[in-house]
Amino acid sequence: MRETHRQSGIVRRFAAPSSLVAIIIGAGLWYMIARDIRSNAIDRAAHSGELLVRTAVDDAIGGDAPGDGFTAATSNRLDGIADRGRADHSLQGLIVRNARGAVVYSSLDGAVETSGEVPRAATARATVTSTTIAVTVPLGGAERPQRWAAAEIRLPFAPVGVSIAAQKWRLAMWMALAFVALFSVVLAVATKVFRGLWRQVEQHQFDALHDPLTRLPNRTLFNDRADQRARERRRDGHDAAVMLVDLDRFKEVNDTLGHRSGDLLLAEVARRLSARLRNSDTVARLGGDEFGILLPIVDGTDGATRVVEALRKSIAAPFVIDGVSLTIGASVGVAMMDEHGHGAETLLQRADRAMYQAKKNRSGHAFYDPSLAGDERDDLALVSDLRRAIARGELRLHYQPKAQLSNSDICSVEALVRWQHPERGLLAPNLFVPLAERSGLIRQLTYWVLDEAMRQTREWADEGRGLKVAVNLSQQSLLDESMPGEIARVLERQRVPARALEIEITESALVSDLGAANAALTKLHEMGITLSIDDYGTGHSSLAHVRGLPISCIKIDRSFVSGMLVDAKDATIVRSTIELARDLGIGVVAEGVETMEEWDALVELGCLVAQGYLISPPKPGPELGQWLRRTGYSFRMDAKVEAAIPLPNFV
Ligand code: C2E
Ligand code: CA
Ligand code: CA
Repeated sequence: MRETHRQSGIVRRFAAPSSLVAIIIGAGLWYMIARDIRSNAIDRAAHSGELLVRTAVDDAIGGDAPGDGFTAATSNRLDGIADRGRADHSLQGLIVRNARGAVVYSSLDGAVETSGEVPRAATARATVTSTTIAVTVPLGGAERPQRWAAAEIRLPFAPVGVSIAAQKWRLAMWMALAFVALFSVVLAVATKVFRGLWRQVEQHQFDALHDPLTRLPNRTLFNDRADQRARERRRDGHDAAVMLVDLDRFKEVNDTLGHRSGDLLLAEVARRLSARLRNSDTVARLGGDEFGILLPIVDGTDGATRVVEALRKSIAAPFVIDGVSLTIGASVGVAMMDEHGHGAETLLQRADRAMYQAKKNRSGHAFYDPSLAGDERDDLALVSDLRRAIARGELRLHYQPKAQLSNSDICSVEALVRWQHPERGLLAPNLFVPLAERSGLIRQLTYWVLDEAMRQTREWADEGRGLKVAVNLSQQSLLDESMPGEIARVLERQRVPARALEIEITESALVSDLGAANAALTKLHEMGITLSIDDYGTGHSSLAHVRGLPISCIKIDRSFVSGMLVDAKDATIVRSTIELARDLGIGVVAEGVETMEEWDALVELGCLVAQGYLISPPKPGPELGQWLRRTGYSFRMDAKVEAAIPLPNFV
């Protein structure tokens, strides 16, 4: 509707000036042709008058020299001509002048003025008034100078005028017709061309603001609408929300069924999301499997929660793609306009954080929680600092030993990253690792940690004692397809065998995408790398989950270890985890062991390995090396030194 309106506007704007030009040209043409018509008509009349003189009048005069007058016979003959002409209205009068211009004959009643010298022109000459065309025709000529005279024939103008008017009318009609015909063709062609151009312009506009796959608005349009809504909200005050929807197992589908199926799935997700929302809401594809939703008017957080639930339900229903039935899920982060941020960018960023939180808690959806966010301005500065820090070598690795409960021997160490910030001092990983994960820097960080940890491993091995070194891998790094190859390259570069490397993955990272995690773990396991589940007990994984995975160790989260002596529930978890590990035939490590009481209790429960401040806090590599040499690679205790489990010495 709006489109045709705009098109006709353009055509009108084109038509008005071009028809004005056509009318001016037409008028000029008409004026010139009309002038020709008139002069042609007069010429024709003059010609017929001349013919009359040259035949009838010349004949009537015969040999009569016009001197001072004609003979009566000649005058009678001339009267005859004039009478006949008057009778059929073809002649008003006939006048003959002699060589001096004196009238020698006139058929007119009144006196006729003398016209002076008759010009000795050879051709006839016509003068026109509104009623008369007077044609003066020379008579006699060079060969008959004695007869020199001129006859003036007066013809009525009316019949010529009628003919001129008729011809002009016909001309006007034809020109109007031609104008209309020409203009219709030009207008039709122009309209067509304009329509084509307009469609192209609109297509380009659409492409610039939409995602080609789902045909949903893209990030630019989304931000535009959200900003627009933020401005309106200042006036109307209605609640509005920005949501970020992230599909839970999309990557799995893409990897196993191929990109085409992935695309089909995304298009179907787009359709389902749109179908669940009102026309005034905006669904946008922000990239990958991320969708943004703007609810311009919503009934507070309760209303937003209802919408989220409806959306998650619609995504949870199975999809049939190429005959395969698939079930995926979605995590949704919600930021309320003005309560959680003002501009589109900020709202999306906060919805993203909330989504991240929802994924982490496996709660399906979450509202932005400023208390979890830290100071964002600080965060932003940190991201750019961190990028530089990695390049400038400001990261450090500290190593914390793990001791065997049976004989106190140090069997391995865990590498823990720190950031030696030039202004803020030594920063703990929880201040920047989550940030690295959100900002995409985790990959570089992980590569650096792996390389440095393996360099240290090689150094210790060269000093004569091979130690297993554990590195923490975030979920993103675990699922990064280039990771196994990168790890293999690092091991080769640092000349460290795969069995000297242990990788710790938190339980929550494993269970949030079990299929993908399993595939990645299997690859690492096949390379000969030892795999551990970190922070066990916090990620609500079931026994069934762990059984299927190629892992060789479980690390009991330190919250349970520190609570086991005072809290029965914690004690149960520690005990049952140790039993589970024994059932599975894998190792079990208690984290955060701070007291001898805890150590003893763990020995009692049959736990194999302990890690914690009791043994040693994390220390820089060289410092830990000294500590190891000083203690003889053992957390020495006088009492329990029993049959040693062989040390993983790979030298
Ligand atoms: P985590 O893997 O569970 O590491 C153990 C954390 O517990 C370390 O904190 C360590 O200093 C601390 N800890 C060890 N013994 C005790 C104890 O007896 N009592 C108490 N209260 N704490 C103890 P840190 O170094 O701050 O690391 C925190 C988390 O940061 C790590 O938890 C790990 O999840 C993550 N992280 C550290 N380095 C890296 C890394 O290179 N990559 C990734 N992705 N994450 C890392
Ligand atoms: Ca760890
Ligand atoms: Ca841990």
